Amino acid sequence: MELTKFTVCQAADKIRKKEISVPELTNAYLDRINELNKKIGAYITVCRQEAEKQADRVQKKIDNYEELPIIAGIPAGVNDNICTSGVLTSCGSRMLSNFIPPYDATVIKKFSQNDAVLLGKLNMDEFAMGSSNETSWYGQVKNPWDLERVPGGSSGGAAAAVAAHMACYALGSDTGGSARQASSFCGVVGLKPTYGLVSRYGLVAFASSMDQIAPVTRDVADCAAVMNAIAGHDPLDSTSQDCRNEDYTSFLKNDVKGLKIGLPKEYFSGSIQKEVKEKVLDAAKLFESLGATIEEISLPLIEYALPVYYILSSAEAGSNLAQYDGIKYGYRAQQFDDLVELYKKTRSEGFGEEVKRRILLGTYVLSSGNYDAYYSKALKAKRMIFEEFQNAYQKVDIILGPTAPSSAFKIGEKTVNPIDMYFNDAYTVSANIAGLCAISLPCGFDSNGLPVGMQLIGKPYDEGTILKAAFTYEKNTGGNGGIDCGI
Ligand code: GLN
Repeated sequence: MELTKFTVCQAADKIRKKEISVPELTNAYLDRINELNKKIGAYITVCRQEAEKQADRVQKKIDNYEELPIIAGIPAGVNDNICTSGVLTSCGSRMLSNFIPPYDATVIKKFSQNDAVLLGKLNMDEFAMGSSNETSWYGQVKNPWDLERVPGGSSGGAAAAVAAHMACYALGSDTGGSARQASSFCGVVGLKPTYGLVSRYGLVAFASSMDQIAPVTRDVADCAAVMNAIAGHDPLDSTSQDCRNEDYTSFLKNDVKGLKIGLPKEYFSGSIQKEVKEKVLDAAKLFESLGATIEEISLPLIEYALPVYYILSSAEAGSNLAQYDGIKYGYRAQQFDDLVELYKKTRSEGFGEEVKRRILLGTYVLSSGNYDAYYSKALKAKRMIFEEFQNAYQKVDIILGPTAPSSAFKIGEKTVNPIDMYFNDAYTVSANIAGLCAISLPCGFDSNGLPVGMQLIGKPYDEGTILKAAFTYEKNTGGNGGIDCGI
């Protein structure tokens, strides 16, 4: 078997048994990136030398029989909105195309503590705004299952890299579904942790009240292993929760007996692709046959989730992105006559169309004449959506639905109409609005042979239950180890 086909858990086992070495594994990935990156466009930066050095360091520890975490020596890619000291962190934007952070994000520090190997930085929609990876300044990422299709977004580079075996796993980000929707389009697993569980320190802010760093992996067991490495309280992030450190791998049990699963009827109506609906309902039947109970529920406020998300996230983005003015760091326009012109030109040239659209929308909903009508109303609706989920969780343990309304669409298909693009996030944004945890995993294929993803949404800090249900599904469908796009 090719070395890049192993999952994190399989590779970790082989490394410990000395069947493969960390440098061998790392080189196999670096060679694969070399071979495929032109075609897929998943990486913005490849850290070959540092990855090789780190691989040698970890191998020495393995040779000394040091006790190491599962992800030790396993090569990973990281979204380009996660700060890496000394390595370009562009956010997929021209604005940060010269930004070399002087510090590491907390998850990167945790990577070092866990002896992970960083392969490089992954392409993404500009400032994580998008659902197709078409807004990156560094060009389109292609879906490894069909190069004419989008990989989803904004964490398209992360999902494509894992699917094409150009990284054993990746860290994406999820503000409104980015890691889950891209994972569903690329046939991999993506987990959005509960807000506050993984430190956001060093994650470049898009919408701070919803942003979370998210593991993207080939199977559910890997996802649990990566969560063990990155979750935990961080005094550097004031929204980080001081909760106990779980061993997420302890939830990997083949058992859903007695689990109450809710199917929100609103997730299965409207413009959902027929095959997506069928595959998710098949999964519900499988859960039922394994001893879970399935209950239809209703979440009527879900209809407002998308407008609430776009109002709140754009408002926050407008404020967060105000710092990019060409003075402190980042891109600066070459020619200008005065300070105002410097600001104008820098921001006009440095940001792409989608980012500008969000800044305009955000500024509009926060302006004094519109604040009450939009921003403040959206905050109230957010609270109501949160309560609606709380009520649902009185009846059921987890919620099952599709991750996205369709499988991967064609490049260019939705760029003409941004609203059409936004509808892709209809099923994912509520987990971010309500601060819940949610996992997307493959649940079959459509008639084009493209992967379909389903989503399990859990209560805050109940990652254990969604991991257990997801693991059970994989175990009973032969999905452990992931699915292979064959590229
Ligand atoms: N597609 C959503 C957006 O464009 C979500 C992106 C994300 O989660 N980063 O806002």
